[in-house]
Amino acid sequence: MTTAALDVLERTFGYPAFRGQQAAIVDHVVGGGDALVLMPTGGGKSLCYQVPALVRAGTGVVVSPLIALMQDQVDALRAVGVRAGFLNSTQTPAERSAVERDLLAGELDLLYLAPERLGTPSALELLDRVVAGSGIALFAIDEAHCVAQWGHDFRPDYLRLSVLHERWPRVPRIALTATATEATRREIVTRLELGDAASFVSSFDRPNITYRIEPKQQPLQQLLALIRAEHDGDAGIVYCLSRASVEKTAAALVAAGIPALPYHAGLDAGVRAANQARFLREDGLVMVATIAFGMGIDKPDVRFVAHLDLPKSVEGYYQETGRAGRDGLPSTAWLAYGLADVVQQRRMIEGSDGDLAHRRNLSAHLDAMLALCETVQCRRVQLLAYFGQDSQACGNCDTCLTPPQSWDGTVAAQKLLSTVVRLERERNQRFGAGHLVDILLGRSGDRVVKGRHDELSTWGIGTEHSDVEWRGVVRQLLAQGLLAVQGEYGVLTATPAAGEVLGGQRTVMLRTEPERRGGAGGARR
Ligand code: ADP
Ligand code: ZN
Repeated sequence: MTTAALDVLERTFGYPAFRGQQAAIVDHVVGGGDALVLMPTGGGKSLCYQVPALVRAGTGVVVSPLIALMQDQVDALRAVGVRAGFLNSTQTPAERSAVERDLLAGELDLLYLAPERLGTPSALELLDRVVAGSGIALFAIDEAHCVAQWGHDFRPDYLRLSVLHERWPRVPRIALTATATEATRREIVTRLELGDAASFVSSFDRPNITYRIEPKQQPLQQLLALIRAEHDGDAGIVYCLSRASVEKTAAALVAAGIPALPYHAGLDAGVRAANQARFLREDGLVMVATIAFGMGIDKPDVRFVAHLDLPKSVEGYYQETGRAGRDGLPSTAWLAYGLADVVQQRRMIEGSDGDLAHRRNLSAHLDAMLALCETVQCRRVQLLAYFGQDSQACGNCDTCLTPPQSWDGTVAAQKLLSTVVRLERERNQRFGAGHLVDILLGRSGDRVVKGRHDELSTWGIGTEHSDVEWRGVVRQLLAQGLLAVQGEYGVLTATPAAGEVLGGQRTVMLRTEPERRGGAGGARR
């Protein structure tokens, strides 16, 4: 380790030692090498480029998509005496030229740059002049997974970042991300031309987080039970998919006596900033938010992260749950997911723009998330395996603590699938889960009578299972790809693979639906 780097760490940032792989990364980049850094959120990625930028001659140029955070980052750096500035679309022309003047005068240690600026000839010419003058210490490409075309954070502007290497091959580059599967990692390397970069992969394990995933039945009651039983008075984040459910959930928590605030992109910027500031400053607040909330939030004592809707990918789930327990103390990651989530997300993918490859990719992401939800093995093992890391059963997640039972659901699957197939073949009709379950349970509601579905041979052949169990069967058959969602109403159809089940060539193992924890009353409707 160079003493210059340690000096900067101590004198400028006030830290006595590097953490984890920071020292090796800093060393490598100070020496002029390219680096790919995979470090979980909160691991300390910033110092990996800030320290080398200060040690090396010239300005460190940081490309970041987090425009909203640039002012804060720059303020924090200036507070410790680092000469920092940023260029993005929120500035007036006068502000921009002031920063450019400092940059050209060699008076900036760090410059934060929005990726879209690098597409403009004027920005490239500006950097040419810096390279010819006081020099560029390094390029840092933050949130590098944004270059992955099928990832959930894809930014088209990131595809242009290969220009950095092509135009200024001698300036070292460091690409950083907290979110990268093997495939994303390869895409980062290819698209950013980082073939010769050294890879620094940190562990993704968050041993102080307990992972729990349970079927969604009465989500609000389930959430209240969790907070009251285990997180009374704790700070937490509750993620919802829509703005409407954010508002509804926040109001319901407040009505139940739990201090909660809403956060979503539809709120006035002032309200958003105020709510965020309160969440960071005050103890024991619950932030109910869409995924718009959290990038770059550094609150160490978030004790729980709850998802009331299914995340679209394991990457998203990991990043969001990773906001719990940054202080290393025990924390909970809790997710409630149900049949409606699966139907809704499959429908959204069906109806999404983009070509078949794009939809397939979204589908693959969802499948991995569903596999994590339905797994009978350790959640942590499955989660870390997704990020390419081997591990042992953790003894701390729900599946370790209460190993789920599985049962041979072949006959149940056959009953359900044959109902679907009969309706399709004999009547050319398709329905959602609710109606299919009505038929299997032999109910004679309006729709059953009107459609003469009580004349079907499968009417009433499923009374050995409850409503909840049948909905669990539907959900798991969807997760296993034996059922598919079709059209804008989300009706169900049997996939070709279902034929093997109906023909008796394939058995179907299902996870037993756990008993409801806490909350009042039965889950049956
Ligand atoms: P990331 O970008 O990986 O999410 P940050 O760079 O924001 O993480 O760092 C997370 C927190 O850890 C920050 O508060 C930072 O000051 C702190 N930190 C990082 N490295 C060190 C270190 N070597 N010693 C002490 N604190 C550190
Ligand atoms: Zn486990």
